[in-house]
Amino acid sequence: MKTIKKYIYPIIIFTIFEAVAITLWLTKNNLFYLFNFSYIGISISLGVVLFIKKYKYARRIVQLLVGLYMLVYLGLICNENMQIEGFWYYLFTGVFEAATIHYAVAKIFGPLIFGRGWCGYACWTAMVLDFLPYKVPSQPRKKLGWIRYVTFALSFIFVAALFLSKVGGIERIMFWAFIIGNVVYYAVGIALAFIFKDNRAFCKYICPITVFLKPMSYFSLIRIKCKKDKCVNCGKCKRVCPMDVDVTDNSRKRANGTECILCMECVKNCPKDAL
Ligand code: SF4
Ligand code: SF4
Ligand code: SF4
Repeated sequence: MKTIKKYIYPIIIFTIFEAVAITLWLTKNNLFYLFNFSYIGISISLGVVLFIKKYKYARRIVQLLVGLYMLVYLGLICNENMQIEGFWYYLFTGVFEAATIHYAVAKIFGPLIFGRGWCGYACWTAMVLDFLPYKVPSQPRKKLGWIRYVTFALSFIFVAALFLSKVGGIERIMFWAFIIGNVVYYAVGIALAFIFKDNRAFCKYICPITVFLKPMSYFSLIRIKCKKDKCVNCGKCKRVCPMDVDVTDNSRKRANGTECILCMECVKNCPKDAL
C-alpha cells in the first residue's frame, strides 16, 4: 500500500495515457495509436519514477525519449508535421489524425490536467535548448510576449495561403515546412538564449504554441503548491525557476503561473520541503 501511494503519480499518468491509447486504437482501428500513446505514457511515467528516486537527470531522460521519438520517428521518418503548421493543415483537410490528436492531447485539453508538462518533458525544441548554459534567467523578463501572437498568426496564414492558392504537392510542402520550421526554431531559440542569457527565451517570447498552452494550463489540475506553514520565504525557489514563476503564491493568478513547465527545480531545491 505504501509503495502504491509513493508511486501514485506515475501510475495515474500511465493510466491516463493507456486509456487514450486504447480508446484511439479501438475507435480509429489503428494500432499506431496504441503504440504511440503507450510509448509516451511509459516514458513519462518512467521519468516520474526516476524523479521520485531522486535521479538528477530524470526530466532530461524523458525529454530525450519523447522529443527524439517525435522529431525523428514521427517527423522525419513518418513525415508527420507535428508543428503548429501541421495542426492547421489537418484542420483544413478536416482529418482528425496524428497532428490534430497530438495537439488535442498534449497542447489543448491535456494542459487542463498536466499544465505545461509538454514543455518540461516532451518538446523537442526545448530538449535542445535545455542543453544550453543559461538554465536560470539572469535578467528580468522582457515585455516581448506579444511576438507569440505574431508567429501564431503567421503559421495560420502560411497554411491558409497554401490551401487558398490550391498549390500542388501540398503534403511535400508540409514535410519541408516541418524541416525548415525546426531549423528556424532551433536557430532562433539558440540565438535568443545567448542574447538574453536565458535558455527558455524562445518559450517565453516566440513560441506560437503557448497561445494554446497558457490559457489552458491556467486551469491545470496538477500544479506546484506551497505549504505556507513550512515556507521560510528564503526565495530559493524563485532563483532556480527557469520560467520566473512565483511559486510561493498558491493562487492561479500568481506571477507567470501559466509559464510553469513542471520541471520540479523549485521542489528539488526548497530547503524546507515546502513545495
Ligand atoms: S513553449 Fe514552445 S518551444 Fe518552449 S517547450 Fe513549450 S512548446 Fe516547446
Ligand atoms: S524555497 Fe521553499 S522555503 Fe524557500 S521561499 Fe521557496 S517554498 Fe519557501
Ligand atoms: S521551477 Fe517550479 S515553478 Fe518554476 S517552472 Fe519549474 S516547477 Fe514550475
